[in-house]
Amino acid sequence: MTTVTAYAATSATAPLTKTTITRRDVGPHDVAFDIHFAGICHSDIHTVKGEWGEPLYPVVPGHEIAGVVTAVGSEVTNYKVGDHVGVGCFVDSCRECDNCEAGLEQYCTGTGMVGTYNAVLKDGEKTYGGYSGAIVVDENYVLRIPESIALDAAAPLLCAGITLYSPLRHWNAGPAKRVAVIGLGGLGHMGVKLAKAMGAKVTVLSQSLKKMEDGLRLGADEYYATSDPDTFTKLAGSFDLILNTVSANLELGAYLGLLATDGTLVELGAPEHPLEVPFFPLGGMRRSLAGSMIGGIPETQEMLDFCAEHDVRPEIEVIQPDYVNEAYERVLASDVRYRFVIDTASLR
Ligand code: NAP
Ligand code: ZN
Ligand code: ZN
Repeated sequence: MTTVTAYAATSATAPLTKTTITRRDVGPHDVAFDIHFAGICHSDIHTVKGEWGEPLYPVVPGHEIAGVVTAVGSEVTNYKVGDHVGVGCFVDSCRECDNCEAGLEQYCTGTGMVGTYNAVLKDGEKTYGGYSGAIVVDENYVLRIPESIALDAAAPLLCAGITLYSPLRHWNAGPAKRVAVIGLGGLGHMGVKLAKAMGAKVTVLSQSLKKMEDGLRLGADEYYATSDPDTFTKLAGSFDLILNTVSANLELGAYLGLLATDGTLVELGAPEHPLEVPFFPLGGMRRSLAGSMIGGIPETQEMLDFCAEHDVRPEIEVIQPDYVNEAYERVLASDVRYRFVIDTASLR
């Protein structure tokens, strides 16, 4: 076992503080790597604040992890020391169920996926995430980061990137599709960039016009403020696909009304409280309400390669680990442009 420095939450209300954790010895199928950068996802905040249930404190969050391999197990053939690698939201799953067999490990029906943090592996080891100096992960749950993507920019792709890429692919975003993205935060800004790279017509639906210039620069064709009631009249029935990335509860009925007949609203935000769904804006136009969660290992690799090929990168603000609590406050205030990424050098 090795000891590494990390940032951990010890309760729902205490700030994250510096601590130490241990990482297991490198097993035959393990890849050990130094973490260079870790993105801050709003899910980290929901988790440490106990909004999804009581977590296993202490929690070391971070599931957008990018780094450089330092050691590999005797059976590992796909990775070698020096490789640029990443880990996303899970580090294991049952590996036997139909979903695991199909590369949809995030929907594992056996043991369920084992989260990168706040979870327990088969042998009882508790998982700790990326706000730390190094990690050891089974090779099957490691991603290869293309050389052309800098490690700081790669980190947010491991959650925000794949969470938007997967539904855009599943619901066939492309040149003929009118796609709207609700919320221009970490997930939302990746949605705009990826949908644009796939050739769709993209509209941002943000609370205000504050980020309009950014939204258009990121690739949106149109940008509207949802605080303006006219937006809902003007855009009624005009989208094939709406991706909701908002971390809080929205009035879904109003947004369902923006879909064309047979359109789909995909819920990606995971707010603390259940969402209310009125019948008429849904059933009245045979619209669908769907959900989607991150993406499997093969699709995450496909997304990384797609981003390399199409020059898609997140917009990031690199911070030092001791800024994490302030960064959380800024995320909660929708004041993130557009993903905080922790430079973990001082934790190694
Ligand atoms: P984020 O960076 O905070 O972005 C969320 C955006 O939603 C904000 O920037 C803001 O955009 C908008 N927003 C926030 N509060 C709002 C409110 N009260 N009313 C209306 N709009 C509001 O968060 P994120 O990291 O992108 O994550 C977003 C959500 O997705 C979280 O709930 C997270 O847990 C969840 N998530 C889900 C998955 C999945 O697999 N499905 C994966 C990762 C994260 P504007 O200022 O532009 O309105
Ligand atoms: Zn996430
Ligand atoms: Zn499974």
